[in-house]
Amino acid sequence: MIQFSGIRKQYWLGNQEVCALNGVSGGIDNGEMVALCGPSGSGKSTLLNILGLLDRDYQGEVLFGETTSALQPAPQSSADAARFRRSQLGFVFQRFNLVPVMTALENVAYPLHLNGCSKQEQQQKATEMLERVGLEKWLHHRPDHLSGGQQQRVAIARALVHRPSLVIADEPTASLDSQTANAVVEIMKDLGHEIGTTFIVATHDPRMAERCDRRIELLDGYIQQEAMRWVS
Ligand code: ATP
Ligand code: MG
Repeated sequence: MIQFSGIRKQYWLGNQEVCALNGVSGGIDNGEMVALCGPSGSGKSTLLNILGLLDRDYQGEVLFGETTSALQPAPQSSADAARFRRSQLGFVFQRFNLVPVMTALENVAYPLHLNGCSKQEQQQKATEMLERVGLEKWLHHRPDHLSGGQQQRVAIARALVHRPSLVIADEPTASLDSQTANAVVEIMKDLGHEIGTTFIVATHDPRMAERCDRRIELLDGYIQQEAMRWVS
């Protein structure tokens, strides 16, 4: 589970301060899939970057743990944060962010390589995961030979192959047509449920939000009252 409290984040544009998050707090239970909604500029990506330890320049506290009593502060040093990201977190982005010179199989095997798995284990687990997302015929294709929906399925396989405890997804369906988006949402839900991964998904897509277990609504860097009722 993840808990965050009093998260404040300012950006500086020249000498002008932009307050992107104004002290937001909440929690996400193990295995939950939560939609992070709100208009453009409301702070969704800023919060995801903080929860995903991509941005560590903020005020407030982020805690991770298996249970409430085991919650620990997010790693502080950049080496510890990188290690935690590699082993515990997975990421899915709007523009897929696959490595263009790697095949689908190599892209999905990469997190396993970073986590020290043997070559044989990398091949086996990455192949299994690509089969689970319906891409068994595309293992040796590079991203530029795949459609947007196929690329996003590779990205989902890559995000989940090392069985992370939390997947951070920033607008995962925004670059896809509605039919492909629906298929991608279903794959994320099914696989996430199977593995027991927690998801936090920033989205403008009402169908994506509806398929999530609950919704956190951001507006101007604040979490809206209605969504807070559901936060444990
Ligand atoms: P969108 O739906 O368009 O992706 P968002 O909800 O993800 O929007 P953020 O990208 O988190 O919004 O931005 C929140 C606020 O912080 C906005 O006012 C934005 O202009 C500002 N902001 C975000 N990144 C930066 C940056 N690198 N430098 C300066 N200001 C930034
Ligand atoms: Mg954003």
